[in-house]
Amino acid sequence: MKPKEILIATTNLGKVREIEPMLKDLGFLEIKTLKNFPPIPSPEEKGNTFLENALEKASYYAKHFNILTLADDSGLEVEALSGAPGIHSSRFAGDKATDEENIKKLLKLLEGVPFEKRKARFVCVIVVYHPSGKWIYAEGEWQGYIAEEPRGTQGFGYDPVFLVPEYNLERTAAELSKEEKNRISHRAKAIRAIIPKLKEFLEKIED
Ligand code: IMP
Repeated sequence: MKPKEILIATTNLGKVREIEPMLKDLGFLEIKTLKNFPPIPSPEEKGNTFLENALEKASYYAKHFNILTLADDSGLEVEALSGAPGIHSSRFAGDKATDEENIKKLLKLLEGVPFEKRKARFVCVIVVYHPSGKWIYAEGEWQGYIAEEPRGTQGFGYDPVFLVPEYNLERTAAELSKEEKNRISHRAKAIRAIIPKLKEFLEKIED
């Protein structure tokens, strides 16, 4: 039977709001988040790639709660740092590091690096996992440059130091409204890419 409910495996309301309308369009009647289920320990993120971590998260919750599950993993890759912080983005400056501490560490490592070498990209990988073990994924990226100092108050994470080409590198991602960011971000692109795949996936599961 075609699944009519899906779990978005996050407690981040911003992510849910971004993903929910597109899933509704696909005919999902019930869109759940982790808040609809009793709390369980988070899965360990042991993977070496965004895909491995997203797959780990999606399969963990899909199997545990026996429901079709969508999970994502994302981060920032800086060319001059050979792709760091990458999968370690949220804990770059330490296990319980704040966004400010992570940004401070990043800017310190990039001290003296000229603009043209401050190229970076945000990456987001989304996995949808069916309890039967079948899964699909899609990726989105957002290329930009790392600013010399933080600017802006919107968004989260590394947004204040991410200069956005779509706005002539004059604004950081933290100087975009939610709507502006949601049109061009790595997460928006990954969501747009997973939708047609999910449509096909659901038809196959139905067979
Ligand atoms: P997660 O995928 O929600 O675990 O995010 C991983 C980390 O990557 C976040 O804690 C941020 O540090 C960084 N990150 C991911 N997406 C964004 C974004 O859209 N803006 C800024 N930082 C981000």
